[in-house]
Amino acid sequence: MPAPLFLREADALPRDEAPLPAQADVVIAGGGIAGISTALALARAGVSAVVLEAEVVAARASGRNDGQMLLGLGEHYNRIVGQLGRERARLLWDYILRNNQAMKDEIAAAGNACGLESRGGLRLSCSEHEQRELEEASALMREDGIPHELLPAEAIGRVLPAARGFHGVLRLPGEAIVQPAAMVRGFALRAREAGARIVEGARVVAIERDGDDASRVVLADGRAIRCAMVVHCTSTLARELDASGFLKAQVFPFRGQIHATAVLPDAIAAQFPPCAMSTHFCYEYFRVHEKRFVVGGMRWSVPGEQLGILDDQNHDDRVSVNLRAFVDRHFPALAAIPFVEAWSGIMAGTHDALPLLGALPGRPGVMALLGFNGYGLSFAFEAGRSLAQIVVDGKASHPAVALFAPRRFA
Ligand SMILES: Cc1cc2nc3c(=O)[nH]c(=O)nc-3n(C[C@H](O)[C@H](O)[C@H](O)COP(=O)(O)OP(=O)(O)OC[C@H]3O[C@@H](n4cnc5c(N)ncnc54)[C@H](O)[C@@H]3O)c2cc1C
Repeated sequence: MPAPLFLREADALPRDEAPLPAQADVVIAGGGIAGISTALALARAGVSAVVLEAEVVAARASGRNDGQMLLGLGEHYNRIVGQLGRERARLLWDYILRNNQAMKDEIAAAGNACGLESRGGLRLSCSEHEQRELEEASALMREDGIPHELLPAEAIGRVLPAARGFHGVLRLPGEAIVQPAAMVRGFALRAREAGARIVEGARVVAIERDGDDASRVVLADGRAIRCAMVVHCTSTLARELDASGFLKAQVFPFRGQIHATAVLPDAIAAQFPPCAMSTHFCYEYFRVHEKRFVVGGMRWSVPGEQLGILDDQNHDDRVSVNLRAFVDRHFPALAAIPFVEAWSGIMAGTHDALPLLGALPGRPGVMALLGFNGYGLSFAFEAGRSLAQIVVDGKASHPAVALFAPRRFA
Protein backbone atom coordinates (compact mmCIF):
# COMPACT_ATOMS: atom_id res chain seq x y z
CA MET A 1 0.00 0.00 0.00
CA PRO A 2 1.43 3.48 -0.79
CA ALA A 3 1.78 5.85 2.16
CA PRO A 4 -1.55 7.39 3.19
CA LEU A 5 -2.52 10.59 1.38
CA PHE A 6 -2.18 12.93 4.36
CA LEU A 7 1.26 11.57 5.24
CA ARG A 8 2.48 11.90 1.65
CA GLU A 9 1.33 15.51 1.52
CA ALA A 10 2.72 16.74 4.86
CA ASP A 11 6.23 18.20 5.06
CA ALA A 12 8.68 16.07 7.05
CA LEU A 13 10.09 17.57 10.22
CA PRO A 14 13.75 18.60 10.12
CA ARG A 15 15.74 15.75 11.74
CA ASP A 16 16.99 16.32 15.28
CA GLU A 17 20.57 14.98 14.98
CA ALA A 18 21.87 16.28 18.35
CA PRO A 19 22.94 13.61 20.88
CA LEU A 20 20.20 12.52 23.27
CA PRO A 21 20.42 14.21 26.65
CA ALA A 22 21.38 11.84 29.50
CA GLN A 23 18.55 13.27 31.55
CA ALA A 24 15.22 15.09 31.17
CA ASP A 25 12.32 16.06 33.40
CA VAL A 26 9.81 14.16 31.25
CA VAL A 27 10.27 11.57 28.50
CA ILE A 28 7.29 11.01 26.22
CA ALA A 29 7.12 7.75 24.29
CA GLY A 30 5.28 8.32 20.99
CA GLY A 31 5.03 11.28 18.63
CA GLY A 32 1.37 11.27 17.60
CA ILE A 33 -1.03 14.03 18.53
CA ALA A 34 -0.95 12.94 22.19
CA GLY A 35 2.83 12.98 22.56
CA ILE A 36 3.33 16.18 20.59
CA SER A 37 0.55 18.06 22.42
CA THR A 38 2.03 16.96 25.74
CA ALA A 39 5.52 18.06 24.73
CA LEU A 40 4.23 21.44 23.55
CA ALA A 41 2.40 22.08 26.81
CA LEU A 42 5.28 20.89 28.99
CA ALA A 43 7.87 22.94 27.12
CA ARG A 44 5.71 26.04 27.45
CA ALA A 45 5.49 25.37 31.18
CA GLY A 46 9.28 25.35 31.39
CA VAL A 47 9.61 21.57 31.81
CA SER A 48 12.35 19.80 29.82
CA ALA A 49 10.58 17.26 27.62
CA VAL A 50 11.91 14.73 25.12
CA VAL A 51 9.61 12.92 22.68
CA LEU A 52 10.93 9.57 21.47
CA GLU A 53 9.12 8.54 18.28
CA ALA A 54 9.83 5.13 16.75
CA GLU A 55 9.14 6.23 13.17
CA VAL A 56 8.29 9.81 12.20
CA VAL A 57 5.91 12.23 13.88
CA ALA A 58 2.27 11.37 13.04
CA ALA A 59 3.31 8.12 11.31
CA ARG A 60 0.44 6.13 12.79
CA ALA A 61 -3.17 7.06 13.57
CA SER A 62 -2.40 10.78 13.88
CA GLY A 63 -1.43 10.98 10.21
CA ARG A 64 -3.96 8.43 8.99
CA ASN A 65 -7.25 9.74 10.32
CA ASP A 66 -10.00 11.73 8.61
CA GLY A 67 -9.06 15.03 10.23
CA GLN A 68 -12.46 15.61 11.82
CA MET A 69 -12.50 17.58 15.06
CA LEU A 70 -15.83 16.29 16.35
CA LEU A 71 -17.68 17.03 19.57
CA GLY A 72 -18.64 14.41 22.14
CA LEU A 73 -15.98 11.84 21.23
CA GLY A 74 -18.27 10.89 18.35
CA GLU A 75 -21.30 10.16 20.54
CA HIS A 76 -24.59 12.00 20.27
CA TYR A 77 -25.24 14.09 23.38
CA ASN A 78 -28.18 11.97 24.58
CA ARG A 79 -25.90 8.92 24.72
CA ILE A 80 -23.25 10.80 26.69
CA VAL A 81 -25.90 11.91 29.16
CA GLY A 82 -27.13 8.31 29.31
CA GLN A 83 -23.65 7.02 30.11
CA LEU A 84 -22.33 9.73 32.41
CA GLY A 85 -25.34 11.60 33.75
CA ARG A 86 -26.16 15.24 33.05
CA GLU A 87 -23.49 17.01 35.07
CA ARG A 88 -20.57 14.92 33.84
CA ALA A 89 -21.86 15.01 30.25
CA ARG A 90 -21.75 18.82 30.42
CA LEU A 91 -18.21 18.65 31.78
CA LEU A 92 -17.05 16.30 29.02
CA TRP A 93 -18.66 18.43 26.33
CA ASP A 94 -17.05 21.57 27.74
CA TYR A 95 -13.65 19.87 27.80
CA ILE A 96 -13.94 18.87 24.15
CA LEU A 97 -15.16 22.33 23.13
CA ARG A 98 -12.08 23.77 24.83
CA ASN A 99 -9.91 21.24 23.03
CA ASN A 100 -11.29 22.22 19.64
CA GLN A 101 -11.01 25.93 20.38
CA ALA A 102 -7.47 25.60 21.74
CA MET A 103 -6.40 23.67 18.63
CA LYS A 104 -7.91 26.27 16.34
CA ASP A 105 -6.20 29.07 18.30
CA GLU A 106 -2.85 27.27 18.15
CA ILE A 107 -3.20 26.66 14.42
CA ALA A 108 -4.05 30.33 13.83
CA ALA A 109 -1.30 31.68 16.09
CA ALA A 110 1.33 29.49 14.40
CA GLY A 111 0.17 30.13 10.86
CA ASN A 112 0.01 26.30 10.70
CA ALA A 113 -0.93 25.50 7.08
CA CYS A 114 -3.07 22.45 7.80
CA GLY A 115 -6.23 23.30 5.88
CA LEU A 116 -8.29 24.13 8.97
CA GLU A 117 -11.94 24.68 8.07
CA SER A 118 -13.91 25.85 11.10
CA ARG A 119 -17.34 25.70 9.54
CA GLY A 120 -18.78 23.17 11.96
CA GLY A 121 -20.03 19.66 11.34
CA LEU A 122 -23.07 17.77 10.09
CA ARG A 123 -24.36 14.67 11.88
CA LEU A 124 -26.72 12.96 9.45
CA SER A 125 -29.19 10.38 10.70
CA CYS A 126 -29.22 7.20 8.64
CA SER A 127 -32.47 5.82 10.12
CA GLU A 128 -35.66 6.93 11.81
CA HIS A 129 -34.16 5.54 15.00
CA GLU A 130 -31.05 7.72 14.74
CA GLN A 131 -33.22 10.73 13.88
CA ARG A 132 -35.21 10.19 17.10
CA GLU A 133 -31.92 10.08 19.01
CA LEU A 134 -30.80 13.31 17.35
CA GLU A 135 -34.08 14.89 18.45
CA GLU A 136 -33.45 13.68 21.98
CA ALA A 137 -29.87 14.99 21.83
CA SER A 138 -31.12 18.32 20.51
CA ALA A 139 -33.63 18.73 23.36
CA LEU A 140 -30.92 18.06 25.94
CA MET A 141 -28.45 20.36 24.21
CA ARG A 142 -31.02 23.15 24.10
CA GLU A 143 -31.56 22.84 27.85
CA ASP A 144 -27.81 22.84 28.43
CA GLY A 145 -27.17 25.85 26.19
CA ILE A 146 -25.12 23.94 23.61
CA PRO A 147 -25.25 25.67 20.21
CA HIS A 148 -26.66 23.44 17.45
CA GLU A 149 -29.36 23.29 14.81
CA LEU A 150 -31.56 20.27 14.03
CA LEU A 151 -32.87 20.15 10.46
CA PRO A 152 -35.49 17.77 9.02
CA ALA A 153 -34.90 15.53 5.97
CA GLU A 154 -36.42 18.13 3.60
CA ALA A 155 -33.75 20.67 4.60
CA ILE A 156 -30.71 18.43 4.02
CA GLY A 157 -30.42 19.53 0.40
CA ARG A 158 -29.75 23.06 1.64
CA VAL A 159 -26.64 22.06 3.62
CA LEU A 160 -25.43 18.98 1.73
CA PRO A 161 -26.89 18.96 -1.80
CA ALA A 162 -25.27 15.63 -2.79
CA ALA A 163 -26.87 13.63 0.06
CA ARG A 164 -29.62 11.05 -0.45
CA GLY A 165 -31.47 8.76 1.96
CA PHE A 166 -30.81 10.50 5.27
CA HIS A 167 -33.56 11.30 7.78
CA GLY A 168 -32.36 14.61 9.17
CA VAL A 169 -29.20 16.42 10.19
CA LEU A 170 -27.76 18.01 13.32
CA ARG A 171 -25.39 20.93 12.73
CA LEU A 172 -22.71 21.48 15.36
CA PRO A 173 -20.84 24.76 14.92
CA GLY A 174 -17.93 23.69 17.20
CA GLU A 175 -16.72 20.98 14.82
CA ALA A 176 -13.99 21.45 12.20
CA ILE A 177 -11.70 19.66 9.73
CA VAL A 178 -7.93 19.71 9.24
CA GLN A 179 -5.19 17.91 7.34
CA PRO A 180 -4.15 15.88 10.39
CA ALA A 181 -0.54 15.00 9.58
CA ALA A 182 0.29 18.58 8.63
CA MET A 183 -1.38 19.84 11.80
CA VAL A 184 0.53 17.55 14.17
CA ARG A 185 3.86 18.28 12.50
CA GLY A 186 3.06 22.00 12.76
CA PHE A 187 2.48 21.51 16.50
CA ALA A 188 5.80 19.64 16.67
CA LEU A 189 7.63 22.62 15.19
CA ARG A 190 6.04 24.85 17.81
CA ALA A 191 7.01 22.42 20.57
CA ARG A 192 10.62 22.56 19.37
CA GLU A 193 10.49 26.36 19.33
CA ALA A 194 9.33 26.18 22.95
CA GLY A 195 12.32 23.99 23.85
CA ALA A 196 11.10 20.38 23.54
CA ARG A 197 13.29 17.74 21.90
CA ILE A 198 11.45 15.61 19.34
CA VAL A 199 13.55 12.70 18.18
CA GLU A 200 12.36 10.48 15.33
CA GLY A 201 13.60 6.96 14.63
CA ALA A 202 13.83 6.41 18.41
CA ARG A 203 12.00 3.21 19.40
CA VAL A 204 11.48 2.73 23.13
CA VAL A 205 11.93 -0.89 24.20
CA ALA A 206 11.88 -0.62 27.99
CA ILE A 207 10.81 1.69 30.79
CA GLU A 208 12.65 0.73 33.98
CA ARG A 209 12.60 2.09 37.50
CA ASP A 210 15.92 3.77 38.31
CA GLY A 211 16.21 4.43 42.05
CA ASP A 212 13.36 5.83 44.12
CA ASP A 213 12.49 8.86 42.08
CA ALA A 214 13.47 8.26 38.46
CA SER A 215 12.88 6.06 35.43
CA ARG A 216 15.23 4.94 32.70
CA VAL A 217 13.82 4.85 29.20
CA VAL A 218 15.78 2.51 26.94
CA LEU A 219 15.82 2.68 23.13
CA ALA A 220 16.19 -0.20 20.67
CA ASP A 221 19.68 1.06 19.71
CA GLY A 222 20.86 0.94 23.35
CA ARG A 223 20.65 4.66 24.11
CA ALA A 224 18.84 5.59 27.32
CA ILE A 225 17.49 8.66 29.14
CA ARG A 226 16.94 9.08 32.87
CA CYS A 227 13.88 11.11 33.80
CA ALA A 228 11.55 12.02 36.65
CA MET A 229 8.42 11.19 34.65
CA VAL A 230 7.57 9.00 31.67
CA VAL A 231 4.39 9.44 29.65
CA HIS A 232 2.99 6.62 27.53
CA CYS A 233 1.72 8.21 24.30
CA THR A 234 2.19 5.19 22.07
CA SER A 235 -1.54 4.51 21.82
CA THR A 236 -2.35 0.82 21.77
CA LEU A 237 1.34 -0.13 21.45
CA ALA A 238 1.77 1.03 25.06
CA ARG A 239 0.25 -2.31 26.03
CA GLU A 240 3.62 -3.89 25.30
CA LEU A 241 5.72 -1.16 26.96
CA ASP A 242 3.85 -1.07 30.26
CA ALA A 243 5.45 -3.89 32.24
CA SER A 244 2.76 -3.69 34.93
CA GLY A 245 0.15 -5.20 32.60
CA PHE A 246 -2.34 -2.44 33.49
CA LEU A 247 -2.52 -1.01 29.97
CA LYS A 248 -2.73 -4.47 28.41
CA ALA A 249 -5.85 -5.08 30.49
CA GLN A 250 -7.48 -1.69 29.92
CA VAL A 251 -6.67 -0.81 26.31
CA PHE A 252 -7.53 -2.73 23.16
CA PRO A 253 -6.61 -2.13 19.50
CA PHE A 254 -8.98 -1.78 16.57
CA ARG A 255 -8.40 -0.82 12.97
CA GLY A 256 -10.12 1.81 10.86
CA GLN A 257 -10.01 2.21 7.10
CA ILE A 258 -10.28 5.20 4.78
CA HIS A 259 -10.66 5.64 1.03
CA ALA A 260 -10.21 8.78 -1.06
CA THR A 261 -11.67 9.25 -4.52
CA ALA A 262 -10.08 10.70 -7.63
CA VAL A 263 -10.30 14.49 -7.84
CA LEU A 264 -13.96 15.47 -8.25
CA PRO A 265 -15.20 17.62 -11.14
CA ASP A 266 -15.95 21.12 -9.83
CA ALA A 267 -19.71 20.73 -10.24
CA ILE A 268 -19.71 17.67 -7.96
CA ALA A 269 -17.21 19.07 -5.44
CA ALA A 270 -19.46 22.11 -5.05
CA GLN A 271 -22.20 19.84 -3.67
CA PHE A 272 -20.14 19.13 -0.53
CA PRO A 273 -19.56 21.81 2.14
CA PRO A 274 -16.05 22.09 3.62
CA CYS A 275 -16.95 20.65 7.01
CA ALA A 276 -16.93 17.51 9.15
CA MET A 277 -19.66 15.05 8.17
CA SER A 278 -20.73 11.74 9.67
CA THR A 279 -23.66 9.38 10.00
CA HIS A 280 -24.73 6.16 11.71
CA PHE A 281 -23.62 7.38 15.15
CA CYS A 282 -20.32 8.52 13.58
CA TYR A 283 -19.43 5.00 12.41
CA GLU A 284 -19.23 6.39 8.87
CA TYR A 285 -17.49 9.74 8.39
CA PHE A 286 -16.58 11.76 5.33
CA ARG A 287 -15.27 15.11 4.17
CA VAL A 288 -13.78 16.67 1.08
CA HIS A 289 -10.04 17.30 0.96
CA GLU A 290 -8.46 19.05 -2.03
CA LYS A 291 -11.57 18.14 -4.06
CA ARG A 292 -11.30 14.44 -3.14
CA PHE A 293 -14.11 12.76 -1.23
CA VAL A 294 -12.47 11.05 1.77
CA VAL A 295 -14.60 8.46 3.56
CA GLY A 296 -14.05 5.98 6.38
CA GLY A 297 -15.96 3.53 8.52
CA MET A 298 -17.84 0.27 7.95
CA ARG A 299 -15.56 -1.73 10.23
CA TRP A 300 -18.72 -2.98 11.96
CA SER A 301 -19.80 -4.59 8.66
CA VAL A 302 -17.22 -7.40 8.77
CA PRO A 303 -16.99 -10.22 11.31
CA GLY A 304 -14.80 -9.22 14.23
CA GLU A 305 -15.24 -5.49 13.48
CA GLN A 306 -11.44 -5.16 12.97
CA LEU A 307 -10.92 -5.53 16.72
CA GLY A 308 -7.48 -6.72 17.84
CA ILE A 309 -5.80 -5.89 14.52
CA LEU A 310 -2.38 -4.17 14.72
CA ASP A 311 -1.50 -4.20 11.01
CA ASP A 312 -1.82 -0.74 9.45
CA GLN A 313 0.11 -1.59 6.29
CA ASN A 314 -2.87 -3.36 4.73
CA HIS A 315 -6.61 -2.90 4.56
CA ASP A 316 -9.64 -5.15 4.30
CA ASP A 317 -11.20 -5.48 0.83
CA ARG A 318 -14.57 -6.40 2.34
CA VAL A 319 -14.64 -3.05 4.14
CA SER A 320 -13.75 -1.35 0.84
CA VAL A 321 -16.70 -2.99 -0.92
CA ASN A 322 -19.06 -1.95 1.85
CA LEU A 323 -17.75 1.63 1.92
CA ARG A 324 -18.21 1.81 -1.84
CA ALA A 325 -21.82 0.63 -1.49
CA PHE A 326 -22.38 3.21 1.27
CA VAL A 327 -21.10 6.01 -0.98
CA ASP A 328 -23.14 4.89 -3.99
CA ARG A 329 -26.30 4.65 -1.88
CA HIS A 330 -26.04 8.04 -0.19
CA PHE A 331 -24.08 10.07 -2.77
CA PRO A 332 -25.16 8.92 -6.25
CA ALA A 333 -23.31 11.90 -7.77
CA LEU A 334 -20.10 10.04 -6.85
CA ALA A 335 -21.11 6.71 -8.42
CA ALA A 336 -18.76 7.09 -11.39
CA ILE A 337 -15.86 8.47 -9.33
CA PRO A 338 -13.39 5.72 -8.38
CA PHE A 339 -11.70 5.25 -5.03
CA VAL A 340 -8.00 5.73 -5.82
CA GLU A 341 -6.53 5.73 -2.31
CA ALA A 342 -6.90 3.32 0.58
CA TRP A 343 -5.21 3.17 3.93
CA SER A 344 -5.76 1.95 7.45
CA GLY A 345 -4.79 2.98 10.96
CA ILE A 346 -4.84 1.51 14.44
CA MET A 347 -6.73 3.08 17.31
CA ALA A 348 -6.85 2.42 21.04
CA GLY A 349 -10.13 1.67 22.78
CA THR A 350 -10.99 1.57 26.48
CA HIS A 351 -13.77 -0.32 28.21
CA ASP A 352 -15.81 2.79 29.11
CA ALA A 353 -15.01 4.69 25.88
CA LEU A 354 -13.25 7.46 27.84
CA PRO A 355 -9.53 8.16 27.40
CA LEU A 356 -6.79 7.54 29.97
CA LEU A 357 -5.09 10.70 31.23
CA GLY A 358 -2.88 10.69 34.30
CA ALA A 359 -0.77 8.56 36.61
CA LEU A 360 -0.79 4.78 36.16
CA PRO A 361 -1.86 3.04 39.37
CA GLY A 362 1.04 1.51 41.27
CA ARG A 363 3.62 2.92 38.84
CA PRO A 364 5.28 5.97 40.43
CA GLY A 365 6.65 8.39 37.87
CA VAL A 366 4.67 6.87 34.99
CA MET A 367 1.68 8.48 33.30
CA ALA A 368 -0.42 7.78 30.23
CA LEU A 369 -2.30 9.81 27.67
CA LEU A 370 -4.01 7.43 25.24
CA GLY A 371 -7.15 5.43 24.49
CA PHE A 372 -9.16 8.02 22.56
CA ASN A 373 -11.54 5.40 21.13
CA GLY A 374 -11.17 6.84 17.64
CA TYR A 375 -11.56 10.54 18.52
CA GLY A 376 -8.10 11.78 19.48
CA LEU A 377 -8.40 15.07 17.62
CA SER A 378 -11.31 15.98 19.88
CA PHE A 379 -9.35 15.41 23.01
CA ALA A 380 -5.57 15.10 22.90
CA PHE A 381 -4.55 18.74 22.54
CA GLU A 382 -6.34 19.93 25.68
CA ALA A 383 -5.35 16.70 27.40
CA GLY A 384 -1.68 17.49 26.76
CA ARG A 385 -2.22 20.76 28.58
CA SER A 386 -3.99 18.99 31.47
CA LEU A 387 -1.16 16.50 31.72
CA ALA A 388 1.39 19.33 31.89
CA GLN A 389 -0.64 20.92 34.68
CA ILE A 390 -0.56 17.65 36.62
CA VAL A 391 3.23 17.46 36.18
CA VAL A 392 3.78 21.08 37.23
CA ASP A 393 1.00 21.74 39.78
CA GLY A 394 0.01 18.25 40.88
CA LYS A 395 -3.52 18.62 39.48
CA ALA A 396 -5.35 19.69 36.34
CA SER A 397 -7.65 22.70 36.47
CA HIS A 398 -10.61 21.32 34.50
CA PRO A 399 -12.97 19.16 36.60
CA ALA A 400 -13.59 16.79 33.65
CA VAL A 401 -10.06 15.42 34.04
CA ALA A 402 -11.22 13.32 36.99
CA LEU A 403 -13.29 11.29 34.48
CA PHE A 404 -10.15 10.22 32.66
CA ALA A 405 -7.98 9.11 35.60
CA PRO A 406 -6.50 5.65 34.88
CA ARG A 407 -7.13 4.72 38.52
CA ARG A 408 -10.86 4.40 37.72
CA PHE A 409 -9.96 0.94 36.40
CA ALA A 410 -7.69 -0.02 39.33
C1 LIG B 1 -8.90 5.45 9.92
C2 LIG B 1 -8.96 6.40 11.09
C3 LIG B 1 -9.80 7.50 11.07
C4 LIG B 1 -9.84 8.35 12.16
N1 LIG B 1 -10.58 9.50 12.08
C5 LIG B 1 -10.55 10.38 13.12
C6 LIG B 1 -11.19 11.62 13.02
O1 LIG B 1 -11.71 12.00 11.98
N2 LIG B 1 -11.21 12.42 14.12
C7 LIG B 1 -10.58 12.06 15.29
O2 LIG B 1 -10.64 12.80 16.28
N3 LIG B 1 -9.89 10.91 15.36
C8 LIG B 1 -9.86 10.07 14.33
N4 LIG B 1 -9.16 8.92 14.41
C9 LIG B 1 -8.48 8.60 15.67
C10 LIG B 1 -7.21 9.42 15.85
O3 LIG B 1 -6.41 9.28 14.71
C11 LIG B 1 -6.47 8.88 17.07
O4 LIG B 1 -7.34 8.94 18.20
C12 LIG B 1 -5.25 9.70 17.41
O5 LIG B 1 -4.46 9.95 16.28
C13 LIG B 1 -4.41 8.94 18.42
O6 LIG B 1 -3.26 9.69 18.66
P1 LIG B 1 -2.10 9.07 19.55
O7 LIG B 1 -1.05 10.10 19.64
O8 LIG B 1 -2.68 8.53 20.80
O9 LIG B 1 -1.62 7.77 18.77
P2 LIG B 1 -0.78 7.58 17.42
O10 LIG B 1 -1.06 8.63 16.43
O11 LIG B 1 -0.99 6.17 17.01
O12 LIG B 1 0.69 7.83 17.89
C14 LIG B 1 1.42 6.88 18.62
C15 LIG B 1 2.86 7.05 18.21
O13 LIG B 1 3.67 6.20 19.01
C16 LIG B 1 4.71 5.72 18.21
N5 LIG B 1 5.25 4.51 18.84
C17 LIG B 1 4.67 3.30 18.95
N6 LIG B 1 5.46 2.46 19.63
C18 LIG B 1 6.56 3.17 19.98
C19 LIG B 1 7.74 2.84 20.69
N7 LIG B 1 7.95 1.63 21.20
N8 LIG B 1 8.67 3.83 20.86
C20 LIG B 1 8.47 5.07 20.39
N9 LIG B 1 7.37 5.41 19.67
C21 LIG B 1 6.43 4.47 19.49
C22 LIG B 1 4.05 5.44 16.87
O14 LIG B 1 4.98 5.37 15.81
C23 LIG B 1 3.10 6.62 16.75
O15 LIG B 1 3.67 7.72 16.04
C24 LIG B 1 -9.07 8.06 13.32
C25 LIG B 1 -8.21 6.98 13.33
C26 LIG B 1 -8.13 6.16 12.24
C27 LIG B 1 -7.16 5.02 12.25
